[in-house]
Amino acid sequence: MPLTPTHQIIASARAAGRGVGAFNVAGIEHAEAIVAGAEAAGAPVVLQISENCVAYHGALAPIGRACLAIAGQAGVPASVHLDHASTVELVEAAAGLGLASVMYDGSRLPYQDNVRVTAEVTRWCHQRDVWVEAELGEIGGKDGVHAPDARTDPGEAARFVAATGVDALAVAVGTSHAMLTRDAVLDLGLIASIRDAVGVPLVLHGSSGVPDPDLVAAVRAGMTKVNIATQLNRVFTAAVRRTLSAEPATVDPRRYGVAGRDAITPEVARLLRLLGAGVDSRIRAGGAGEPLSPVE
Ligand SMILES: [Zn+2]
Repeated sequence: MPLTPTHQIIASARAAGRGVGAFNVAGIEHAEAIVAGAEAAGAPVVLQISENCVAYHGALAPIGRACLAIAGQAGVPASVHLDHASTVELVEAAAGLGLASVMYDGSRLPYQDNVRVTAEVTRWCHQRDVWVEAELGEIGGKDGVHAPDARTDPGEAARFVAATGVDALAVAVGTSHAMLTRDAVLDLGLIASIRDAVGVPLVLHGSSGVPDPDLVAAVRAGMTKVNIATQLNRVFTAAVRRTLSAEPATVDPRRYGVAGRDAITPEVARLLRLLGAGVDSRIRAGGAGEPLSPVE
């Protein structure tokens, strides 16, 4: 089916009390596997390209066009989103390329500058039907908003959303980026408080560090967009490593690339089933902290 705008995917999920998986792409194999996983689960999906991914490829257009082509041929609703853009130029490039949504990340700016630039970016994007996710500034912790001890204040979140006009808000509720263990402790009460305080969908970053039952609980508490990057990279790299260890004479990158790709697909399907089950469904998930995922 043709590309589905991110705002439609998010709005449907939010209305139904479901979560939406937003998975970060590293290369084209990731994009192919993410869409295949979404098709297997019969669930909508968001493919994300981060600023770091753009830097890796040297430009947005090559990987962006590949993702748009792959998402545009998906058998389920799929969109392509720009993740963590710290420059206005990259947001403009994404809109120009046809991405349906962006995250403008001004969280490193002083609060008033973040509000001002985010509001400008949002006005510009809305004139082009581009959906905008943004993030509050540093609240606490040495690693900023994504430190495990950083917390978003519901009142400040409401003021930020009102002042900027953003469509979705990334919040700090206990996760941090690039976690290799799944033992993050989410502040579920805070998620519910922020949901009640702001009128836009909430976004969980750093979700790879969250055990399965807590992902479900986060959606139940009010989280809609759930960003997952590190978990897919773990699964991909473990499969590539297994293949290369078993077949040290391999030289064709397709030989281990397919192993990585085929490992991501069921993991995406599994996570999407978990997130998309809805608030009223009974989820059979393991206990908190249990290693549920098929990694190494
Ligand atoms: Zn993030």
